[in-house]
Amino acid sequence: MSAPAVFFPRTVAEAVELLDAYDGSAKLVAGGTALTLMLQQRLVSPEALVSLRDVPGLGGTSVEGGVVRLGALVTHTQAARHALVRAHLPVAATAFSLVGNAQVRAAATVGGVLAEADYASDPPAALLALDAEVLAVGPGGERRMPIAEFLVGFYQTTLAPEEIVTRVDVPALPPTAGSAYLKHTSRSHEDRPCVGVAAVVRSDGDGTCRDLRVAVGAACDRPLRLVDVEAGAVGSPLDDAAVEAVATAYAERVDPVADVRGSAWYRREMVQVWVRRAVHAARRAAEHTTNDQREGAVL
Ligand SMILES: Cc1cc2nc3c(=O)[nH]c(=O)nc-3n(C[C@H](O)[C@H](O)[C@H](O)COP(=O)(O)OP(=O)(O)OC[C@H]3O[C@@H](n4cnc5c(N)ncnc54)[C@H](O)[C@@H]3O)c2cc1C
Repeated sequence: MSAPAVFFPRTVAEAVELLDAYDGSAKLVAGGTALTLMLQQRLVSPEALVSLRDVPGLGGTSVEGGVVRLGALVTHTQAARHALVRAHLPVAATAFSLVGNAQVRAAATVGGVLAEADYASDPPAALLALDAEVLAVGPGGERRMPIAEFLVGFYQTTLAPEEIVTRVDVPALPPTAGSAYLKHTSRSHEDRPCVGVAAVVRSDGDGTCRDLRVAVGAACDRPLRLVDVEAGAVGSPLDDAAVEAVATAYAERVDPVADVRGSAWYRREMVQVWVRRAVHAARRAAEHTTNDQREGAVL
């Protein structure tokens, strides 16, 4: 087997051209944290490697019209620490900050974790709870996909082999929302999640729930959101019984995977526990949102 050709294109268009020319037998390299392992284990044997390293314009974080824009080459460390992400998407900042270890976070990118679509990941669940949209460029131009449509199964996305994720657009949370991302690891704290849960809660002053979003990651083939269950909680107080009903619904309806981090039975139990904890944490955060904290949140 011969070594793959390596390319360092200078524009997105040039990178797309290369992917197109290799007709599915080239692989993009972003942070390389997942791809290096896949190459080493011979899970992939591309004819060409196309590095995004020298492509400008893919590495910034900005906000426009209430939407936080994360470039595909933003690293997990940058996403976790960026003031805009921490202020407007704290649940995502937490999820990025809990990935693996410092070395992995320094290299792994926003585009890479989404394109890889490993079920046992942290950021995708948070981005799903935030209704993120993925932007991709291919030979036909740019398209935009809600993350719920982008992630379709185990290591599967709707991305074509010649398309490049360029950006993720994430609507900023309202300043009155409370959110939490909780990660449960079953082997070591640096491990991928056994279960990870992102929750967003917004309530009226009298405790009536106005918005509930819950995304469960790592438990099944892709992050799970049950929009009917979320909608069912809106309009009533999100008291302990209501939180338990939400946790029970997720535990009953998840189709849990069994792997080295837990059996299907264990995962279902953990979904119940960690959905409960994440929604409680988000509810507490919403309750503690003060007018002072809201100041400075103007986009
Ligand atoms: C030791 C270790 C621990 C880890 N722990 C965790 C953890 O706790 N939680 C967690 O969520 N993840 C964890 N990970 C996974 C890590 O987050 C992913 O490897 C990383 O996010 C992939 O990003 P990357 O930029 O390195 O992608 P790469 O390795 O460069 O690429 C991954 C795949 O995506 C494709 N790709 C990359 N960028 C793009 C793009 N812009 N457009 C289209 N396709 C693209 C590549 O061709 C490749 O197929 C861990 C990884 C390691 C090595």
